[in-house]
Amino acid sequence: MTDQAFVTLATNDLYGKGALVLGTSLRNHKTTRKLVILLTPQVSNNIRSVLERVFDEVILVDVLDSKDSAHLAMIKRPELGVTFTKLHCWALTQYSKCIFMDADTLVLCNIDELFDREELSAAPDPGWPDCFNTGVFVYRPSIETYNELLRFSTEKGSFDGGDQGLLNSFFSNWATADINKHLPFIYNLSSVAIYSYLPAFKQYGPDAKVVHFLGNIKPWNYSYDSKTKCVTSAVHDSSSIVHTEFVSMWWDTFTSIQPMLTEYGVSKNISPDKQEEEKLSEAISHLSVSPPPPPAPMISSEERRKNWEQGQADFMGVDSFQNIQKKLDTYLN
Ligand code: UDP
Ligand code: MN
Repeated sequence: MTDQAFVTLATNDLYGKGALVLGTSLRNHKTTRKLVILLTPQVSNNIRSVLERVFDEVILVDVLDSKDSAHLAMIKRPELGVTFTKLHCWALTQYSKCIFMDADTLVLCNIDELFDREELSAAPDPGWPDCFNTGVFVYRPSIETYNELLRFSTEKGSFDGGDQGLLNSFFSNWATADINKHLPFIYNLSSVAIYSYLPAFKQYGPDAKVVHFLGNIKPWNYSYDSKTKCVTSAVHDSSSIVHTEFVSMWWDTFTSIQPMLTEYGVSKNISPDKQEEEKLSEAISHLSVSPPPPPAPMISSEERRKNWEQGQADFMGVDSFQNIQKKLDTYLN
């Protein structure tokens, strides 16, 4: 199957390390397809050398940036303009069919069966299920599509400033046209879903095939104790609570490639440095993930509604299931 490939992208060293874990997890689960990574020049030579050991092809691309700060502000992810760089994946015409996977995904078993699907197959986005999430998708490289996408991006832009808004407008009939193009959610399970529908996660979570660490806190933002297999969050905000069991799996895989990283002189410590922590949030407090977070500061109901609408619900605090149920009970009585 040399004309089919898994493709990912990294524009810096942190996502490069994420990609290494993804690539290693695909190898561990014995994929028969090629592994390809798109890199921008910002990725250091050391990381690149290690990526060359794990991936069959390391392809240098230029950064495509939507520079759409207004729309990106709406999703509170100013850094995601560079996700337009993903569009380069359509130019990989040496392959007939590919599966793009975000560098913040981890596979838990062999998923080669996804190559039976057609363009554009993807799983629903947990925030708006009539949109597909662009963390995992099946597509067919094509220069025509690539050019159309580039033209579309300059003419129409993206409603969220990132690749997901753009691709959903481009493949606009995904929600209704063909159910075979809806990948089961277990191919792109995100932490958001775990906390917004816990009983479903308990029921179906054990069948998960791909975990997606969607949101602004990534596994590499945690610290890990390889002896106790415990993860501790260096940064915390209620919008990005990740199931620590999966973070710990990510770190397990990362730890297994540590010797290779050391060999190539990549620093051991990938926890966020001071500058990055500051960038992540002004109001972040340092605490461990395992104990429940302290009560949220009092905010006005208008502000709370705004947060909720922007996907920043405080699921562990005021917006917890228990609190919502209490409110419903009050109304019903
Ligand atoms: N990405 C990258 N550099 C960045 C931001 C994103 O290389 O600064 C790539 C990476 O492959 C990442 C994908 O674009 O997985 C989408 O971004 P992210 O996963 O952070 O978005 P989310 O899934 O949280 O919406
Ligand atoms: Mn992602």
